[in-house]
Amino acid sequence: MNKRWRIIALWLIPVVVGLGLIWQTAGNRAPVDTAVSSPAESRNVATGRMTYGRFLDSLQEDRVNAVDVFDGGRTAIVETADPDFGHVQRLRVELPGLAPNLLDQLKEKHVSFDVHPPRPSSPVWGVLGNLLLPLLLIGSLIFLARRSSGLPGGPGQAMQFSKSKARFMMEAETGVTFDDVAGVEEAKQDLKEIVTFLKTPERFTAVGARIPKGALLVGPPGTGKTLLAKAIAGEAGVPFFSLSGSEFVEMFVGVGASRVRDLFKKAKDNSPCLIFIDEIDAVGRQRGAGMGGGNDEREQTLNQILTEMDGFEGNSGIIVLAATNRPDVLDSALLRPGRFDRQVMVDAPDIKGRLAILQVHARDKKLAEDLSLESVARRTPGFTGADLANLLNEAAILTARRRKSVISLTEVDDAVDRVIAGMERQPLTDGRSKRLIAYHEVGHALVGSLLQAHDPVQKVTLIPRGQAQGLTWFSPDEEQELVSRAQLKARIMGALGGRAAEQIVFGQAEITTGAGGDFQQVSAIARQMVTQFGMSEIGPISLSSQDREVFLGRDLMIRSEMSNASARSVDEQVFKLVHQLYDDTVALLAEHRECMDRVVEVLIERESLSGEEFTSLVAEYAVLPKKERFTPLLVG
Ligand code: ADP
Ligand code: MG
Ligand code: ZN
Repeated sequence: MNKRWRIIALWLIPVVVGLGLIWQTAGNRAPVDTAVSSPAESRNVATGRMTYGRFLDSLQEDRVNAVDVFDGGRTAIVETADPDFGHVQRLRVELPGLAPNLLDQLKEKHVSFDVHPPRPSSPVWGVLGNLLLPLLLIGSLIFLARRSSGLPGGPGQAMQFSKSKARFMMEAETGVTFDDVAGVEEAKQDLKEIVTFLKTPERFTAVGARIPKGALLVGPPGTGKTLLAKAIAGEAGVPFFSLSGSEFVEMFVGVGASRVRDLFKKAKDNSPCLIFIDEIDAVGRQRGAGMGGGNDEREQTLNQILTEMDGFEGNSGIIVLAATNRPDVLDSALLRPGRFDRQVMVDAPDIKGRLAILQVHARDKKLAEDLSLESVARRTPGFTGADLANLLNEAAILTARRRKSVISLTEVDDAVDRVIAGMERQPLTDGRSKRLIAYHEVGHALVGSLLQAHDPVQKVTLIPRGQAQGLTWFSPDEEQELVSRAQLKARIMGALGGRAAEQIVFGQAEITTGAGGDFQQVSAIARQMVTQFGMSEIGPISLSSQDREVFLGRDLMIRSEMSNASARSVDEQVFKLVHQLYDDTVALLAEHRECMDRVVEVLIERESLSGEEFTSLVAEYAVLPKKERFTPLLVG
């Protein structure tokens, strides 16, 4: 349609609709107070008016003989008789609508009543008029909808909600296999069974086994839950449908539920297949546990998921996997038998797992001969699969930027630092601040290397990264499962070393905010020692509720289980412990002041010192305890 026509048509719509409306009402009008033209219409003439209230009273008192309703129930002519005088009146009453109970009442009182259709001026036009208005309305709506379907917020969009454009993802073939997932052997073992369910359901149904409908993958972000789900679909050779819970939380009520419905419908058409619901905690949180009202959309979506899961048999070839990192907050209805009754843990990998994951991601990269992935695995405790993939990619980017042909240890090292601590920034040029930061970092490192129980120093640097102005890296022993009291105390002293050095060298007035992060670590360790590990004068008692995030109202009550008196003595013990250790730290560093000055001098000159460089410098001044470990821990 060209533009001019469109404008004319737009003008025509209100005009025609308006005309139609006038036409329609004219045809429907009750013919009150008009001349009688035929005997049949004599009952349509009123001689006066009556209020609706009086009409109801008359009805109650049996004074109503007949009622004729016009105008689609809006007016009536009521014939009343005064029983004493036999005087009959025809009065016009405005009705609030034809209430069903009014009709019941009329029937009960045996009043003769009749409902009159609107009187058309001419039969043909009347029929046309009645048809034309709805037709016009529908036509113009369609026109409007089409016209504005391209515009944001127009009715075209509004109409799509109910249709719910299927906004889940479907991959006919994921192309991922179990070989692409590493370091989560137990989870893989658990999930292999699901592949068999999808591939050969007959084997299970033949012996009467009920195939489970769903499993829940539980683990921190980046550990490979999505990847595992895709691998199952890939191994079984079935389509992969996915949907993310977090997408529903901000949406209009009803959209989530209809998407879930669409998803399961599509899945049934394509069975056998796998449905993956990511971040299910976003919709699957305990209902009614929140303070300040629930989220309708979330509940409706959750209910729809539950309904759908109850609606098919496991043997129908659909398996539903869901992923979350907060299984503790999930609605218990989700975990009931016949729903996600199996849970599979997908944890952050240990050193062997990290090596395996690195090997997977190194497959398509060019590595230097002497680059040992094992040493990279050692350097990266706490890294998830996603972190490791990211790490190798960063290293590859650095390699390309440096115009090298293979990735060497230098690039991987730099990439580790970048992934852990953020991007490098320009080193400070202000001599005084740089000196203060150098003392702060050397304070950490020196305390760390002088204490037998402390992890060895891996690197000290004055190059700022992320939030930190300087950094000291230590290497914790990852294989060690139990940590001793001496080790915890040494960690606290190491963390206090930065502030202690500032104070010794620059005096109480010049100490800086740089130690804020250190103190958070100190408090956390000290408090755990007192409340969880029974390492204070309070004795061998656990005083804390489990160390997890408060989940709204449910946990607040558990929280307050510690009495005020206990809380006060915990605080006292924490203060005492930290003050004592701080004094020890200051004394230790003061004793090695000469060594500290020398190392600071070298550090300012070179900006970074490796663990070996650092220890050989210190060894000129002190006998160092022997430590041999490799993996890093970060202290700002
Ligand atoms: P999650 O769903 O648990 O948050 P993903 O499966 O989305 O984690 O992982 C993101 C990416 O990280 C994957 O695409 C993959 O490249 C890498 N990755 C994560 N875990 C592993 C693993 N166990 N083995 C190999 N690669 C992994
Ligand atoms: Mg994921
Ligand atoms: Zn510090």
